[in-house]
Parts: sequence; structure tokens; C-alpha cells
Amino acid sequence: DNILDIVGGGMAGAEAAWQAASAGIDVVIHEMRPATGTFAHQTDQLAEMVCSNSFRSDDDEQNAVGLLHWEMRAACGLVMEMADAHRLPAGGALAVDRDAFARAVTDRLLSHPKIALERTEITSLPTEGRWIIATGPLTSDALGRAIAAETGTDALAFFDAIAPIVYADSVDLTKAWFQSRYDKGETEEERTAYLNCPMDRATYDAFIDALLAADKTTFHEGETAGYFDGCLPIEVMAERGRETLRHGPMKPVGLTNPHAPEVKPHAVVQLRRDNALGTLYNIVGFQTKMKYGAQVDVFRMIPGLEQARFARLGGIHRNTFLNAPTLLDDQLRLRSRPNIRFAGQITGVEGYVESAAMGLLAGRLAAAEMQGRTLPPVPATTATGALVSHITGGAEAKTFQPMNVNFGLFPPVEGLRGGRRGRRDRYKAYTDRAKTDWSVWLGHG
Ligand code: FAD
Repeated sequence: DNILDIVGGGMAGAEAAWQAASAGIDVVIHEMRPATGTFAHQTDQLAEMVCSNSFRSDDDEQNAVGLLHWEMRAACGLVMEMADAHRLPAGGALAVDRDAFARAVTDRLLSHPKIALERTEITSLPTEGRWIIATGPLTSDALGRAIAAETGTDALAFFDAIAPIVYADSVDLTKAWFQSRYDKGETEEERTAYLNCPMDRATYDAFIDALLAADKTTFHEGETAGYFDGCLPIEVMAERGRETLRHGPMKPVGLTNPHAPEVKPHAVVQLRRDNALGTLYNIVGFQTKMKYGAQVDVFRMIPGLEQARFARLGGIHRNTFLNAPTLLDDQLRLRSRPNIRFAGQITGVEGYVESAAMGLLAGRLAAAEMQGRTLPPVPATTATGALVSHITGGAEAKTFQPMNVNFGLFPPVEGLRGGRRGRRDRYKAYTDRAKTDWSVWLGHG
């Protein structure tokens, strides 16, 4: 009965299964799809990317999420291996072909001799055996209720965002143009990673007015507690000030409109390629709570998108997560039931990469425990360690909100210049130190 049961075959569950099986543990993944779905998942594949197709920055010297990529690669992570194999050009970001990626992760897991998949929804908290619960932001209602009953803490809800996707062939290229900001990337594929739609001042003003006036879906009572700042709906950004979008997702910098090179656009809407074929582009940063009909009307005001057809409209949705600082120990075990670990977004991290990283860690920790090995705590100087230290200890429990990995979570490197001027050196020092410490930690098994 030395089996590890994992609930949820998303980013975290997939990676946890891979890590534990690689260590020699027999694993059963319990995944409720397709019999029971979520509003965001559209396939029956494991590790489905529900929104953006990006794993964000791949810069492992100057960016904390890029460092997390590096650490997962060093730990032979499956999510990173498959992301690399299905990478799409996107400047410095790691964007992937989501269907090919999820298929590859699924195939690799299912062909592993130590991994079995059961397509069932788990509706109660298991009392025996070793478990990892990695059911994500859209944990099924029944299991969510069971967790809340155990922890005595109601799962909190906040919002994550879906940006609308348009068909590339419906974009008017006499107005829009292909270009990466600051012309990053040289190949034809890289050159077509981004489509840009320019706005002059009058169009921008009319667009802001339309955003403010548009019909929006109202939130359910209590739903808006704990809005996540990185994922604000565009209309909420517009409410904060008429210029906010021009300084945010619609900033016009690093781009030259070949249709009117002498005119500097007042604002630019950027679309990023969403699939390998280049048939779909998502409107970057345009998550919204506008009603579908209103979205079509408002987005067609964007020059170049007058005739746009939408493959998917935007949305903003629920997120279930634990109050990890009070509920989990530094091994991601539920304090009240140490046979159960949690992993992924439900632990209070935010993002595909962070979720996969917590899956990687939970899988390794569970495997070691089942084999009678004790792993030392992950150094907080690593990206993985900084994150897990934050959610299970460093964060303020009372105001706990999901966290992206960032250098602010790292213990400072002594003797370096502070402020903006020292930033490059500081980040390089953080990442150098993290790589050394992570490699040592991996050496423990
Ligand atoms: P998931 O990948 O969601 O995996 C959980 C799995 O558990 C699912 O397959 C689900 O079907 C299954 N499951 C749930 N309950 C049960 C049960 N009771 N029994 C069995 N199986 C169950 N992150 C980003 O980095 N970029 C984005 O653009 C982004 N957009 C998002 C958009 C939305 C709408 C949501 C909800 C989240 C978004 N996130 C995004 C956040 C988050 O990083 C992803 O949701 C990520 O997939 C989380 O990984 P996970 O493994 O924790 O959960």
C-alpha cells in the first residue's frame, strides 16, 4: 500500500506525479475531468493551460519566474521539459502551444509504468494513505466543502482573468502590424509573435468612454473580496484613471507603426500569438467582466479589430485557496492531517509556473517521506524555497493572498548596492546564489 494518491491532474498534480514516480513511487492520479468539468477547462488533458499560453519570463538571471524555470529544469521537471519542447516565439517570454503541451504531458505521464490515472472526482478528505491534493483554483464544490469542514477556515475566493482571443485572419493588417516591442527576436516566427493596433487620442478617449459605460456582469455577493492586482479587469483599470491603460497594457512604447511611421500612436493594443499555427491571438491584459455582447462592441472599436471574430471572450473567475500560513507546515502537509499534502494554486501561490513548482516540491517531499528519507528544508534563497517559505510561514496569515514568485521574497544578499542602480547586480547575485543552493538541495535526493 505504498501508493501516493494525487487528486487533480493540473499543473501541480502532473508535476507531483512525475517527480514521485521518477523517485520510484507508485502513483495514482485522480482527475475528475471530463465527467465533471470546470468552467475554464475545455479538454480532458492533464496540465491544461486554462487562460494565457505563457509561462512568463524565461530570464533566469534577472527574473524570479525565469529562475523558477531554471530550478524546475534542474530537477528534471516534466512541465518545463514539455514547455520547452512546444515553445512558441514570444520575445523573452516562454509561450507554448497549449494543446501540444498538454497532450505531451498527458502522454508522458500515462506511459510511465508507475503512474495510473483514474477519472474520478474525489469528494471527501481521505483518512488513510498518502495524498497530495492539487485540485487548483477551481476545486470541485464537494471537495471544497470537505476541505472547509476540516480546516474550519472557509476557502477564500478571488478573481483570475481570461483575456479575449481573436482569429488572426479577422485582423485588418492595413491598420495593425506585426512587431515585438523593441524589435526583440529576428526570425519570421518571432517577428509575428505580436500584433499591434494603434490608437490616436480621439479613438482612445472614445474607447475609455465605451469601457466605462459597457454592461458588466455583476459579482456575486462577497465575491470581490481580495481582488488580485496583476489581474484587474480593464474596465476597473479605466475607472482608476483615464490614463491608466495607456501606462499599462496599452502603453505605446517600443513600437513603430509601419503604416504611419511619422505618427506616434497615443496608445497601442497588443495581441500575442496564442497557438503554433498563428491562427489565434489574445489581447494582452484585456481580462474583463464586461458582458459578451458588450465586449464584442467595445473591442471592435480598436483600429484593426473592426471585423474581428472572437475565438473566446474575456472573463474573470473564482479562485479557491487555503490560508496556508495557518494550515500547512513547511513540508506542505496539512497540520491537522499530516498524511495529506497540498500542492499548486490551492496552497496560495498564483500562476502556472508557481503551481507546477509547488507540485514538484510536494511530489519530491512525499516520495522521500514514503522511502524513509528526510530532506532538509528547501533553502529560502532559492525561488522554490522563497515561495514555500512565504506561504507556509513568511506571509501574514490574517491578510494572506495568493503570491507570485518575486525577488521581494528572497533574503537579501549582503554587501550589495541598494536602489534601482544596483538592481541588475542584485538580481544576478540572487539568481547565482539560488542556483548553487538549489543544486545542493537537489543533491540530497
Ligand atoms: P489546475 O491546473 O486547475 O488543476 C487542478 C485539476 O484538479 C484540474 O484538472 C481539475 O479538473 C481537477 N480537480 C478539481 N477538483 C477535483 C476533484 N474533487 N477530484 C478530482 N479532480 C479535481 N495562471 C497563469 O499563470 N496564467 C494565466 O493566464 C492564468 N489564468 C487563469 C485563468 C483562470 C480562469 C483560472 C481559474 C486560473 C488561472 N491561472 C493562470 C491560475 C493558475 O495558475 C492556473 O489555474 C493553474 O492551472 C493552477 O494549477 P493547479 O495544478 O493548481 O490547478
